[in-house]
Amino acid sequence: MFKERKKRKGAIILGASLLIVLALFFYYRTSQTVTLTPDSKLRVTTTIFPLYDIIHTIGGDRIELVSLLPAGASPHTFEPTPEVIRQISQTNLFFFAGAGLDSWATFLVENNVDKEKNNYQAIDISQAVILMPFTDADLEHEQTDFDPHYWLSPANAFLIAQSVTNNLSIQDPENESYYRANLERFQKELEVAIQGWQEKMQSLEKREIIVFHDAWNYFADYFALDIVASFEPFPGKTPSPKYLQTVQTEILAHDISVVFTEPQLAPELALALASDVVSQVAILDPLGGLKGRDSYLSLIDYNVETIYSYLQ
Ligand SMILES: [Zn+2]
Repeated sequence: MFKERKKRKGAIILGASLLIVLALFFYYRTSQTVTLTPDSKLRVTTTIFPLYDIIHTIGGDRIELVSLLPAGASPHTFEPTPEVIRQISQTNLFFFAGAGLDSWATFLVENNVDKEKNNYQAIDISQAVILMPFTDADLEHEQTDFDPHYWLSPANAFLIAQSVTNNLSIQDPENESYYRANLERFQKELEVAIQGWQEKMQSLEKREIIVFHDAWNYFADYFALDIVASFEPFPGKTPSPKYLQTVQTEILAHDISVVFTEPQLAPELALALASDVVSQVAILDPLGGLKGRDSYLSLIDYNVETIYSYLQ
């Protein structure tokens, strides 16, 4: 019952951001021209770090890749700057997460007001993976919404990499065999890593966790963990004291000894509350790009190791 939705708040932020974004787009329409020479590398942009790393793994040195979100930024609170919009407009291929995670990107793509100048191919990666619906029974309006944190299931990483490979190959067929060889290597590395992660996670007896925001459903599903509650039902927005009190009750009821925060969202209030009832606070990272989790594999590895070390 604590997995409340972030969508309504998202819609309000989106509404405000979109006007600004649209204005910027019209500005760039008149001030920018894209120049691509036939010999230059495929220019690729993307939004969040996990996608960036998988694209980098497949594309290697045959593509010019730019990650639009700086490390440590939350896609839920991110707003594109003029520079970000310029970078997208100069790209050949733009991969975004979709499913409501980077709504500003979806908006930019859908309102690409000058397709002649901004002649890029946009790929919504969420359409290539298996999405989980939010399952909150208390939710009245948005049962059909899907959870956008799909990359946290290693099963989806295979599908992301496959989609990236296909799309790079379509845009740049000369390098297709290079991209496919990189895909194969990534798949093998992932298979080996998954084996280690599963062994660790399956050995846990206690499987209940309290997370910071509602990002961990795929991860929990994949590793058979049980999310008891999340602190911040609307990412970036301070939860009400009443809501936090119910989280506290859950912590006590399930005898939870550790709560997990995240580097992208300010944790002060939740931490203050948690410190009353738990002895330990640790960090889970849904996005990575920071030291110690600077690849997709090391990001999942970090989260597996963190949960394992606190729950074993
Ligand atoms: Zn999130």
